[in-house]
This record gives sequence, structure tokens and C-alpha cells, in this order.
Amino acid sequence: MLFAATSWFAFNGLVNEINLQWGEQFAERQVLFDKHRTLSPLIREIHLARQMAAEPAIIQMALHEDNSEIKRQALKVMESYRFNFRDHSYFAAFAASGNYYFNDASGKYSDKQYRYTLSPKDKSDYWFYATVKNGMDYQVNIDPDNHLDVVKVWINVLIKDGDKVLGVLGTGIDLTEFLKESVGINQSGVENFFIDQNMAIQLSTDTRLIDYASIAKTTGERIKIDVLLKNPDDLERVSNTAEILKSNNGVSTLWVNYRGEKYLLCMAYLPEVGWYDLTLIDEKSLMLLHGFSRLPVLFGALFLMALLLLNFFFHRWVLRPVQILKASTEEIQHGHYNISPPLVGTGEIAALSNSFKKMVEFIRQSNAELERKVAARTEELHHLTEIDPLTGLLNRRGMIDRFDKEISRYTRQAGSLGLLLLDLDHFKHVNDTHGHSVGDLALCATANILQSTKRKYDHAGRWGGEEFLLLLPDCTEVDLLSIAERIRLSIQALQIDTGHNTLSFTVSIGAHYSSTPQTMDAMLHQVDRALYAAKDAGRNCVKLAGKQT
Ligand code: GH3
Ligand code: MG
Ligand code: MG
Repeated sequence: MLFAATSWFAFNGLVNEINLQWGEQFAERQVLFDKHRTLSPLIREIHLARQMAAEPAIIQMALHEDNSEIKRQALKVMESYRFNFRDHSYFAAFAASGNYYFNDASGKYSDKQYRYTLSPKDKSDYWFYATVKNGMDYQVNIDPDNHLDVVKVWINVLIKDGDKVLGVLGTGIDLTEFLKESVGINQSGVENFFIDQNMAIQLSTDTRLIDYASIAKTTGERIKIDVLLKNPDDLERVSNTAEILKSNNGVSTLWVNYRGEKYLLCMAYLPEVGWYDLTLIDEKSLMLLHGFSRLPVLFGALFLMALLLLNFFFHRWVLRPVQILKASTEEIQHGHYNISPPLVGTGEIAALSNSFKKMVEFIRQSNAELERKVAARTEELHHLTEIDPLTGLLNRRGMIDRFDKEISRYTRQAGSLGLLLLDLDHFKHVNDTHGHSVGDLALCATANILQSTKRKYDHAGRWGGEEFLLLLPDCTEVDLLSIAERIRLSIQALQIDTGHNTLSFTVSIGAHYSSTPQTMDAMLHQVDRALYAAKDAGRNCVKLAGKQT
């Protein structure tokens, strides 16, 4: 939108400037063209009429009108001019008599050119007296001829003898024809007027605006340009411009308000007749490039459409796939590795999506692998915490765990649980005699015997120091004692090579058999008592809690 607005403003400014310059140039050419179009027929007529007024025969007639021979000669000269005038008509009026002579194209007044005698009292004859009084060599006056019933553009030239004014002669151009040629532009938005130095309208296509017989009027009676231009400021500027033009003979343009619209007024001075040519051109018809001002709007609309399309495809091909990928990454962030991101987009995005899918697959696999390893390691660690590093048997913690499980199992299933607590005899002495490492060998050998003697579902563990515990689920009391005895004998039979000699040792075993649910502490207490009893009985024997063996 910003682009469209900026370009519209810039373009509009440019177009306005071009229009303005073009308009002014157009108007200046138009006014010059009008000026020459209007002037050329007038100048020709003026020239001819002045030549006619200088004819000695006519001057003579003005001086001696009553002399019929002079008069005849003069009328002959006048008739010779008649066909040269554009309108094929002429007039001559003499100051002394007031007689008015006239003949036209049809020649119907030949031999009777005298038409009537002018009277200063007749308003329609004021033009004559005004022209004489005015003293200008020639003047152009638009006036209806009441006697002849025509409206003409009169070219009035003074007949003079030295400085003395003898009369006025000239010709007339049919106003309708002349208007067609001068102000009849027939161009929409362009209007043409001619005004005289009093600002009175001389030529206009609207004949009602023409200030007829202008030269015979007083200021108040004239139809002036204030009927065209209502704005006093415009009138003043036109008046000032008229003054300047009179001296430099150029062309000027100014903006005015005409009929409530903005018009370019172009003015030129016609020194030959003392008129001004005014050409009014509607601002709108000057808009050479008015159609182009819509172009930026079109550009803007196209740009907007392009943006929308771009946005649509960008969203479809880039944004949407990226959002899907982003959603997948968030899933992964939250630890949900078991997602399968869809393949999205095309081209680069598709390649990215594919890589992402592979990466997720890799993460999933390596995560699963990691979890497996962690589980195994945890299991291993857990196992290690329950294993006695010296003997490889369960340690006290491991045994307590199995003890708990067996108690709850045999309580649930109404089974039985046998328990053996072993303590090596005089082991302090073994250590003292053979050294601690030999003691350790003895401990390992004991552990091996326990491992090989126990049934596969029995649990053997090092209970602490040189004490061992054996849990025997689902066994009979007889089995329990038989296993205990087997162990005792196996240990007794051991021959450990110390490097110098061999070592033998014995074990005392406490046994406890329970077929009714008991707590671990209660069972341990029982078996401990039995062991104590075995020690007490001289060692290297098995004692069942509450019984003698
Ligand atoms: P008793 O017949 O009354 O059991 O006599 P004993 O000497 O075995 O006495 P007691 O059970 O009080 O002594 C245990 C000895 O076991 C003490 C210690 O030196 C030894 N011992 C405990 N743990 C280890 C071990 O890991 N390695 C070795 N080499 N000796 C151990
Ligand atoms: Mg002991
Ligand atoms: Mg001992």
C-alpha cells in the first residue's frame, strides 16, 4: 500500500507538472493561432480601407459633395474598391453633410449609393460621431446596422485632409462568418473572446455577450469581461496583464475561475486593432495525461495481487511445511521421539523435510539404544550393589531382598522356607596363622561349596565377615539338614594350598525351618540362636533351631 501510495503521489506530481507545462504551451499556441486567424482578414480589410480613404477623389468628394462630377468620380473609385473588399461592400459617410453612402455584394444600390443622412440625435448613428471624435485613424466596431438590418464587424477609417477629419469610410464583414473564423473554435473546453482596451467584449460565439457599438458607449453601458470572470482578483490580474502585454506584445497565461471551474486564461494583444485575444481552456481538457494517473493505481493493485499470490504460495510451499517441521521439533523437545514426521514441501523444503525425517529416525533409534544401554547398566549396577565382590555371592543387601521376596511368596502360597547360617570356626586364627589373603581364599572356597551344593532356586549369600546365609524355599526339614550336613562335610574336606602347607578348617551351621509365616527378624533370630548353639556344642556341627542334631 505504501509503495502504491508513494508511486501514486510521485506519478501524480509528475503528471500534473507535465500537464501544466503542456497546457501553458498549448494555450500560448492556441492564442497565437487565434490572434493571426482573426487578425489576417481584419488587417487586409483595414489596409484596403485606408488605401481607399486616401484616394484623392474621395477626399475631394468629402470637401465638395455637392459637385456632381466630383461625386461621380468618387463613387466610381468607391465601386472599384467594392469587389476588393471581402464582403464586396463599402460605406462612406461625410462629416460635412452627414450623408451615408453604401453598396453591397448584390450591387443593388449602384447609382443610388446615397442611403440616408446621419443624425447626431439618432442613437444608431452615434458610432459615426464617436469615431470622428475619437480621432483614431481606424477602428473596428461591431454594430448592427438598423437601416440595413445586418450585424457587421465594421472597419471604420477616417477620411482626412491633413489633420481635418472629413468623414469615415470602410467596409463590414458579416459577423456570423467572422465569428466562425475567429472565435468559433468548436473545441470542447476551449472558449475564445476578444476584448478591447476598455475590457468590453468585442467577439464571442455567444453574440449576446458582444458589446455592440462599443466605441459609442460610455463605461457603464459596456458589456465587459466581468460578465465572464466574477472573481475581482482574477479581473485585476487580467487588467494588469493587459497593461504588460500592450508594451511587450507577448503572450501570457494565468489561472482563473470561469463558470465555477478552473480555467487557464491565455492573453495576447492585437496592436493592429487594439484588442486582446482571450483564450479560456478548461483545466480538465488540458489534462494530457489524465488517463495515466490511474496507472499507479493499476500498478498498486497488480503489486498487491502479486503480494497476495506470493503470500499464498509462500505459505503453501514454505511456511506451512516449516510449521509442520516446527511442530515435530516441539514434539521431540518434549521427549516424544516416537513421531513420524510427514514428508512436506517441494524442492529444498522437501529435501529439508527428508533430512529431518531421517534425523528423527536416527534420534529415535539412538534414544532406544541409549535407553537399552542405560537399563542394562542400571541393571548391572543394581546387580553389583547386591553382589559381594570377593566371593561373587549375594551380599547382605541382596540376601535381604531375596529374603523379603521369599517370605512374601511362601506366605502367599502357604509354602515353607529353610534357613542356614554358617560361621567359619576360629577364623581369626586362620587369618593370624596364614595371613589375610589365605583367609580370603578360604572364604572363596566356602562360597564355591555353597554355590555347588545349593539347589538352583536356593539363594546363597555372604552375610558378613566369615558368615554365610543360605535360603532354601520349598524344602523339607530333612532336606534342609541334609544340605547343611553336606556343606559342613565339604568344608571340612577342603584342602587349601597356602604355598607352604595346606589349610583345613571347619564351619558351624545354624538351621531354621519355617512352614508358617514369620518375619525375617524372627527367622534370623532363630537361626542365630541355632548357630550359637552349634558353636556352643563345640563347633563343626549343624544345629536346628529348637532341636538337637
Ligand atoms: P568362632 O569360632 O568363635 O567363630 O571364632 P572366630 O575366630 O571365627 O571368631 P569371629 O567369628 O569373632 O571372628 C571372625 C574373624 O573373621 C575376624 C576376622 O579377622 C575374620 N574375617 C572377617 N572378614 C574377613 C575377610 O573378609 N577376610 C579375612 N581373611 N578374614 C576375615
Ligand atoms: Mg564369626
Ligand atoms: Mg567364626
